[in-house]
Amino acid sequence: MQDYKLDTLCIHGGYSPKNGEPRVAPIVQSTTYVYESSKEMGALFDLQEEGFFYTRLGNPTNDVVEKKIAALEGGVGALITSSGQAATLMAVLNICPAGYHVVSSSAIYGGTFNLFYKTMKEMGIETTFVSPTATLEELRAAMRPNTRAVFAETLANPSLVVADLETFAVAAHEQGVPLIVDNTFPTPINCRPFDFGADIVTHSTTKYMDGHAVQVGGVIVDSGNFNWEGGKFPMLTEPDESYHGVVYTKQFGKAAYITKARTHLMRDIGAQAAPMNAFLLNLGLETLALRMERHCSNALAVAQFLEKDPRVAWVNYPDLPSSSQYELAKKYMPHGTCGVVSFGVKGGREAATKFMDGLNMASVVTHVADLRTCCLHPASTTHRQMTDEQLEEAGVPADLIRLSVGIENPQDILADIDQALEKAAH
Ligand code: PLP
Repeated sequence: MQDYKLDTLCIHGGYSPKNGEPRVAPIVQSTTYVYESSKEMGALFDLQEEGFFYTRLGNPTNDVVEKKIAALEGGVGALITSSGQAATLMAVLNICPAGYHVVSSSAIYGGTFNLFYKTMKEMGIETTFVSPTATLEELRAAMRPNTRAVFAETLANPSLVVADLETFAVAAHEQGVPLIVDNTFPTPINCRPFDFGADIVTHSTTKYMDGHAVQVGGVIVDSGNFNWEGGKFPMLTEPDESYHGVVYTKQFGKAAYITKARTHLMRDIGAQAAPMNAFLLNLGLETLALRMERHCSNALAVAQFLEKDPRVAWVNYPDLPSSSQYELAKKYMPHGTCGVVSFGVKGGREAATKFMDGLNMASVVTHVADLRTCCLHPASTTHRQMTDEQLEEAGVPADLIRLSVGIENPQDILADIDQALEKAAH
C-alpha cells in the first residue's frame, strides 16, 4: 500500500476488503466490541494485543481513516480527533506537560494562537512566538532549557504566510525536540512536511481533507523519525504507571508517540472522532487529490484576474510571482498551495461589504476549504468589534476579503466575482 502514489492512496489507502466484505469501508456505529473471555479483553487493556474494545480508544471506521492519512503523510501512525483544535492540543500535551515551553511561529490560525497564548498558558505551558521566516539564530534565541516542542503552520490561515519548515526543523533538532507542523491548508497532496524534517503533523480535517463541509475533525500523524531517548521525554522512555509500567519507546518503537497519544491522552481526554464523521471524512479523502488540483488552478485564475482588475486594491496569493511568499511557496509546495486567496476591494470597508452582499453563487460563511466557493469579510464579521486602525495593526485590513475558491467551473466563479466587484464600485 505504501508504494502507491498519493492520488491512489486517497482512494485505496487504509482499507483492503477481503472476500465477501463491503467494498466501501463501513460505519461501525458501536461503542463496544465482544470477546469470548475476560482474559482476551484483559490483554487488550494491557496493550499486549491489538484490537478494539471501546470506541474512545479505537474504532474500525476511524482506523481506516487513520491508516489512510498516515500513508498520505508518510507517517507510521495517526490518531483522528473530534476537531482540529483537539489535535493541536493533544499533539503538544503528549510531550509537553505543565512547566515546559513551546516555540511557535506567529503565523498560525487564530484558534491555535488563542490555545497557545491563553489556555495552554493557564495550564502552565508557555509559548514564545517567532516569525514564520525566523533565522536559525532567531530560533535559537527563542529556545529555553525547558522547551519541548517547536510548532509551525505550513501555510497560515488566513495570512497565507509560508513557514520555512527546514529552518524550523534544524532549530528544533539542535534543541533535541520535535517539530510539529499544522499542514491543514496544503494537505499532503501539496506538501509533506516530513520530507522537510518535521516530526509530527496535525490537521483540521474539517477543511480540504473533508472538503464538503460535513464534519468537524482533526488528526495527528507521527513520522516515527524522532529519537525520544536522551532524557527530555520521560513520558515516552520511562515506565507509564497508568499502563502497568509500559515503556512506549521499548514496546512500540517508532510508533511510541502516536501510541501514547491514543492510550494515555485519548483515554483521559476523550476527544475522539465519531465513526460517522470518520466515514464522511473517508469519502472526502477519496477525491482529495483531484479536488486540490482544481482548487489550485481555479484560485490561480482568480488571483490573476484580481491582480489585473482596477477595482481591486491588492491581492495576496502565494502562487503569484508578485507575492512575497512566492519563493518559499515554490520550495515547499511546487505544485500549488491551496484555494484560499485574499484581496482588498478599493473603497475600504463599505465597498467590501457591498461586494459580499453582491455575490450570487459564492456563499458568505466563516468556513474555508469547501468545494463550494465561499467568502468572508472579517471586518464585518469575525473582527467586527475592531476599528479600521486596529484591523490594520492586526494584519486584517478593513477591505480584506478572504475568498476560498471552490471547484466549480472557473468561468462561473470569475463571472460572480466580476459582477460583485461592479456592484461594490457603485
Ligand atoms: N488549524 C488550522 C490551520 C485551521 O484553519 C483550523 C480551523 O479553521 C484549525 C486548526 C482548527 O480546526 P477545527 O476548526 O477543526 O477545530
